[in-house]
Amino acid sequence: MDSLHLYPEIAATELIARLAARLAVNPEEIALGSGSAEVVTQLIAAAAGEGDEVIFAWRSFEAYPRLVQIAGATPVPIALTSEGRHDLPAMAAAVTDRTKLILVCSPNNPTGTCVMKDELDSFLQTVPREVLVVIDEAYVHFNNGEGTADGLDFFRRYENVAVLHTFSKAYGLAGLRVGYAIAPEQITANLRRVALPFGVTALAQKAALVSLDAEAELRERVDYVISERSRVADALRDGGWSTFDSFGNFIWLRTGERTAFVHQQLWERGVLARAFIGEGIRVTVGNSEMNDVFLTAMRTLSSLREYDTTE
Ligand SMILES: *Cc1c(COP(=O)(O)O)cnc(C)c1O
Repeated sequence: MDSLHLYPEIAATELIARLAARLAVNPEEIALGSGSAEVVTQLIAAAAGEGDEVIFAWRSFEAYPRLVQIAGATPVPIALTSEGRHDLPAMAAAVTDRTKLILVCSPNNPTGTCVMKDELDSFLQTVPREVLVVIDEAYVHFNNGEGTADGLDFFRRYENVAVLHTFSKAYGLAGLRVGYAIAPEQITANLRRVALPFGVTALAQKAALVSLDAEAELRERVDYVISERSRVADALRDGGWSTFDSFGNFIWLRTGERTAFVHQQLWERGVLARAFIGEGIRVTVGNSEMNDVFLTAMRTLSSLREYDTTE
């Protein structure tokens, strides 16, 4: 706080060195941004323009289609499977000679599902080497799934893979804006060239460094969210609601046509969740008191006559 009148260190050398050591990659393979949103914006803008295509699963992170359009490129959304998972074979089949970038979100926001190691391997074997595949792992800390793809492992094995991480989710620093890409050197060099000068503030750099020192506390927080996540999911299923196994810090309610109704009812009972009308509702896993408010609301909802809980 005492040195906020000074400009931040422009290259964020200390933070990059710490991240590189921790992830066992070269410092040159890391590019920081003002949130991973800035990094993905730059990756898309750098890779794709007029006449190019960017493939991503849908529904997924809301920013993807918008960022692709801002870059002047064509969004190619590929529907999730009925299990809310990336349909990697369909995404591979959608690759054309205009495809420049593919976004893979794992765990997927908002459905919470992950891509599996084996299926991602088969997928990457069919994707041309000139197409960059970006694995967005904003929620990686909450992923305790077995056999799921580890972005860094793929970054090490494929020359056309980049991975996105952020301090916004598990670390709880969303308001400070710091995220990063782990990508091949020629890509990070370009990202650094187009990055906003001093885009990662001194306070954000410092907070990220301090957070990296608080590993035990992070683990505790993540474990708590994971245990609450299973408690909430089990209670929902016991109540007859349909949800996928989530590996993020949220749960996806498959409310389909009843989404607007359920969302309104939750709102009236003090629960603010993210509704995608006609599809479902993403509910963030809070602390146990918050989750109880939500579960109580869902119980009263199940008993409402106009609502039939059988999907
Ligand atoms: C939150 C989120 C991001 C971006 O987060 P930042 O705060 O910009 O780091 C990126 N991808 C997904 C899937 C997210 O949910």
